[in-house]
Amino acid sequence: MASSALTPSATVPDVTPVSLKEIAPWAVLVGLLLLALLYFVGAEQGATSLISGENVHEWLHDGRHLLGFPCH
Ligand SMILES: [Zn+2]
Repeated sequence: MASSALTPSATVPDVTPVSLKEIAPWAVLVGLLLLALLYFVGAEQGATSLISGENVHEWLHDGRHLLGFPCH
């Protein structure tokens, strides 16, 4: 009983492989969400602004400075 616990097969976790076809739609979704976040943090100001006013810029202002985007 103790010797069977030391065999390599007993230590391998039972992991089901995930194919790239299953991950691809989620990777695209997460990539688009991250690109949108990058736009709002880095480019939602002035000439590149899609939303009028300064509210979005002010809400993300600290993140803008934290990531080193030019601001003021
Ligand atoms: Zn600033």
